[in-house]
Amino acid sequence: MRKLTETEIVLASHNKGKLREIQLLLMPYEIKCLSAGELGIDEPDETENTFSGNARIKAHFAAKASGLPALSDDSGISIDALNGKPGVYTADWAETKDGRDFNIAMQRVWRLLEECGAPSPRLAQFNCTLCLAWPDGHDEIFAGIAPGQVVWPTRGEHGFGFDPMFQPEGYLKTFAEMLPAKKHPLTHRADAFSKLVAGCLE
Ligand code: IMP
Repeated sequence: MRKLTETEIVLASHNKGKLREIQLLLMPYEIKCLSAGELGIDEPDETENTFSGNARIKAHFAAKASGLPALSDDSGISIDALNGKPGVYTADWAETKDGRDFNIAMQRVWRLLEECGAPSPRLAQFNCTLCLAWPDGHDEIFAGIAPGQVVWPTRGEHGFGFDPMFQPEGYLKTFAEMLPAKKHPLTHRADAFSKLVAGCLE
């Protein structure tokens, strides 16, 4: 496995929630993080049907455009009773003609669960795949999960995306009811990141 020896990387994401969490995870390692947005790097189309496929597209695109190692995150929520949907297409379920609306996406998930009479607890997991890619085309991939259940009505104001309807296993609060310092170590992103640390940073 290749170690990251560079001291500057690009975060290949335009999602403010993800950027905030990844920057915090990287803080102890004294790596300067630039975001794709601030370097004027576009978002490539996510044309694969797996988290790792789309993570690779994003990281390689940003590494090539910047000449720096790039770290991407492809993530989503998979609901057991919906056969893993929305999964890789989580962000797409929020698309409206005026941009993304995650309240609409969460309502859609709950309506489908009601329609199929899914039993409680309505088990779900967040998935995250991180891809660290270098400008020479090499990459390393790390996957993480956060198990839990989806709940309704939504609760909490913190976080982003599906946080208000996701209650992690072993907790009574949703991710959106937790302060960031409480949520972050429990996430699929932190799970994947700990593998990246072991593989590439230590
Ligand atoms: P993508 O990786 O750009 O395809 O987007 C994944 C989507 O999954 C995001 O837009 C969020 O809505 C959702 N998601 C990923 N991680 C989290 C999280 O930690 N909390 C809440 N929603 C998340």
